[in-house]
Amino acid sequence: MTVVHLEHVTFAYGEQPAVRDVSLTVEDGDFLGLIGPNGSGKTTLLHLMLGLHSPDSGSIELFGQPVAAFDEGERIGYVSQQATSGGGSMPVTVREAVTMGRFARAGHGRLTDEDRAIVDDALETVGIDELAGRQVNQLSGGQRQRAYIARALASEADLLALDEPTVGVDAESRDAFYQLLESLNESGITIILIEHDIGVVTNRANRIACINTELYHHGDTESFVESDALTEAYGATGQVVHHHH
Ligand code: ADP
Repeated sequence: MTVVHLEHVTFAYGEQPAVRDVSLTVEDGDFLGLIGPNGSGKTTLLHLMLGLHSPDSGSIELFGQPVAAFDEGERIGYVSQQATSGGGSMPVTVREAVTMGRFARAGHGRLTDEDRAIVDDALETVGIDELAGRQVNQLSGGQRQRAYIARALASEADLLALDEPTVGVDAESRDAFYQLLESLNESGITIILIEHDIGVVTNRANRIACINTELYHHGDTESFVESDALTEAYGATGQVVHHHH
């Protein structure tokens, strides 16, 4: 099954395209690393994939439907940059936030014992069951990401999309976080990850999309590592390429 399919997608905020003529496919079970220098269009491309922007030209499908008509939001878990850094103002507990994800999937206003068990499992899987009674906006950045992921698990999301989820998270927690993503991917969840650390991406992702407005590489990680796409995409910018793990 195809999760995301883009054909010749172009999008500009003003005159200058942020994404130009991008075609790519994300298949069920993929772990796609989306990389590129700062300002290269990664967040814009992710927003296009999720229907948060409409393309100026080209077509986008999510789970086989035109993205503009897609109405199964519970199938997608999205951890935005704001989710990591900003403080959401809604005073809800972790358990309440995750329970909302379960409501989205259950599609009715009452939770069964099974629904409650699924919420408990989701909290446990991401390792925040002890924080269930805390307010979401009192969590650290790393804990908050886990809460967002637990919510996606409770809604039985098929796709997790994450935009630089470990900014401001210490190295040890980062590693644990990426291990969690890898094990979720192994359990069948498709992952799209924007990450500036190339080492993390090439270690964890099986597919790479390397963008600098245009796509420089789209394919498996091995062929990316052997290609010149990285230097070509980053070459013109003078930005430092992070290779450390
Ligand atoms: P990345 O995620 O790779 O850092 P972005 O997708 O955020 O890149 O941005 C791509 C380009 O579009 C950049 O030149 C950025 O300045 C511009 N841009 C991003 N968001 C907006 C916006 N809301 N309005 C105008 N320009 C924007």
